[in-house]
Amino acid sequence: MFAYVDPTIRDRLVNARKLLRIDPQGKLIGPDNHADEHAFTLNILGPIPLPLDVGQRLVIWDWYTFVRHTELLKAREIAAILPQRGDQRLLPLLNTYMAVNSVLVHGDLAKASLPLVRVHSSCLTGDVFGSKRCECGPQLDKALEAISGQEAGALVYMAGHEGRGIGLWAKAITYLLQDAGEDTYQANRSLGLPEDCRDFHDAAAILLYFLGGDRPFRLLTNNPKKQSDLYDSGLTGFQVVKHLTGVNPYNRRYLLAKRDWGHQLDPEELQGLVAERADVPPPFSLSSDQLNKGREDHPMPSLQSGAEPLPGGHKS
Ligand SMILES: [Zn+2]
Repeated sequence: MFAYVDPTIRDRLVNARKLLRIDPQGKLIGPDNHADEHAFTLNILGPIPLPLDVGQRLVIWDWYTFVRHTELLKAREIAAILPQRGDQRLLPLLNTYMAVNSVLVHGDLAKASLPLVRVHSSCLTGDVFGSKRCECGPQLDKALEAISGQEAGALVYMAGHEGRGIGLWAKAITYLLQDAGEDTYQANRSLGLPEDCRDFHDAAAILLYFLGGDRPFRLLTNNPKKQSDLYDSGLTGFQVVKHLTGVNPYNRRYLLAKRDWGHQLDPEELQGLVAERADVPPPFSLSSDQLNKGREDHPMPSLQSGAEPLPGGHKS
């Protein structure tokens, strides 16, 4: 992620009120307020008109990106030092791994009586490739369609939430573990990672900025943790709207695991929706033996649950 911005451009954006900073309660922080620069605050950039095909219609959204101030600060501090050392040519190489999130706003959120909101966790395989191993792609599409059909609403897209926060590389490994029999939560645990390490504080702060704390709105979700995290962050006025879509034979087991974990999904609905697609081939299945096949030629660690891989791929 290239994070450097010429300071003169940054000042112009601030003066034009296209670049703002907010605190965790969604309150604006003035550009001259340099107190607590290292505290948790967000920079918001936008609005930028974004035309999207939603269902059969073209909808112009207001796109904002937002990022933690501390992340930008790190890049800015390095960028300030490099030219002094005669290393200005290094500026284009100034990369960070910061998560740049987005919010798509439809309509006038300030005036709408009951806006519709979705907080969506990024999923490359589902959102971009259209994978059926999860329901993320259809959930994203349906949320945009539902929001654009309302007076006003917003979709918050959390870029750092891949694999419930473990990242794309680890998520890919958990897919192999799932094909060997583990469920989606056990697979995270097998990697020594949390079942769900997504942080919703950034999403809460951005919604507090756009909506205010006690403002009534509707939240598209089946996830009780997301609900409690947003509530605990000060968003107390929402009603939950179930968001079940995209069920298919490839993700039914995944969805059942989510239901067992606490997601508000009815087994009858899951079963019924699967039955409608009975023509689709059965899901993948990969035995541990298959996973370990070829180890003699290309040694790899055992992927059995709880196994302690040793160099060379041999268990004790
Ligand atoms: Zn997904």
